[in-house]
Amino acid sequence: MITTKKVFSATLIAIMAVAFYLWGHIDGVEGRATGPIGESSADAAGAASTTDEAPYLDVYYPGTEKLAADEMRVVACGTGMPSPRPKQAAACWLVELGNGDKFLFDIGAGSHERIAAQKIPYDYIDKIFIGHLHVDHFGDLASFWLGGTTMNRLTPLRVWGPSGPTPEMGTAHSLKKMQEMYVWDIATRSGVIDARGMALEVTEFDYKAVNKVIYNKNGVKIRTIPAIHAIDGAVSFILEWNGLKLSYSSDTAPNKWWLEYTKDSDISIHESFLAPGLLISKQKFTPGEALIVGTIAHTSPVQFGKLMSLTKPRLAVGYHFQNDFDTLPIMIEEARKVYDGPLVFSQDYMVFNITKDNIMVRESAYDEAIFPEPPTKPKLPVPPPSSPPFSEFISSGAEMFLDVLGPMWEEINEEHGTDHKIPQ
Ligand SMILES: [Zn+2]
Ligand SMILES: [Zn+2]
Repeated sequence: MITTKKVFSATLIAIMAVAFYLWGHIDGVEGRATGPIGESSADAAGAASTTDEAPYLDVYYPGTEKLAADEMRVVACGTGMPSPRPKQAAACWLVELGNGDKFLFDIGAGSHERIAAQKIPYDYIDKIFIGHLHVDHFGDLASFWLGGTTMNRLTPLRVWGPSGPTPEMGTAHSLKKMQEMYVWDIATRSGVIDARGMALEVTEFDYKAVNKVIYNKNGVKIRTIPAIHAIDGAVSFILEWNGLKLSYSSDTAPNKWWLEYTKDSDISIHESFLAPGLLISKQKFTPGEALIVGTIAHTSPVQFGKLMSLTKPRLAVGYHFQNDFDTLPIMIEEARKVYDGPLVFSQDYMVFNITKDNIMVRESAYDEAIFPEPPTKPKLPVPPPSSPPFSEFISSGAEMFLDVLGPMWEEINEEHGTDHKIPQ
């Protein structure tokens, strides 16, 4: 039903302007899928309105489209700043491949709900690559890990992240401490749920590794290159599969590794921080803060444009700023000073379908009332609890209301053929 359209070349400036007018956030990329309209619209005058499904959809509805065997789908699950807002969570990108593999790159604050909106069983989202240990890049890891465990993930969660300038600043130490931090949460699940999804498998790799493969399975290779951001210990990633190449900066100032190793990416997702002038006017930074944070610790939009003009991806995607009606035109103007290729400044829930021939960019619809998808594996019997039982003091405060509880338990037992007894 939905067909793809090619990314427009830089020569189609007029059409790019129309696309920008229509969608605001898309600059130079065809964002709307087309399909045969059929005769219904022509016949509509004087006839009853059709009640058939729409002939084509302008947006992506998670869980309704099969990925082709050679296709990559990328969903922006977080494009904003360390303080998430309803419109934008912090950094998070979901990559789905036609071979069934799924990867998360960063899992910043607020992104868990965007991931959940994709209607993918938790079992299948078990590989997370963290670019650095800022809260806006892994702030929702605990929520996704423990929340996913209680909501049906029956697969260990695997996390890859960089070492740090000292062992205590590396991913392994950080996530060990995270598990200690949640000791009470973990204890409460004991004896209650199948705990396979609570296992956390952490792979720490050298942040100084240059274009080194850190993941290689099912034809998917993920490489790491160093990033320059705040202090040592930040990295960027390059994923290659089936002749497609995705580069993801996480956070970084412009650097030689990005220029050397991300050339000719099919999709190049790079941070593009608010332009310094906007940091001053919108975020009330001092000029000094705006210049240091916006151009030295991060990449400003004109620097982003420079990187894209030198690496020439099929599609350049900028993120990591408050993408609004009054910031976006300035961001585009800055990037366009030096870059005239295909460009999108992404919003949350944007989806990118990529094949060797086509790139399609759309918005996603999402279901605010989504329930987690059921697990794909049968649950195992839960062993007895290892956590301490209620104290006598707390137990003594319970009001069981057996007059209403008894009938409820009986009803459920009867309906499901079980024989559960109310704990006394
Ligand atoms: Zn950062
Ligand atoms: Zn960041």
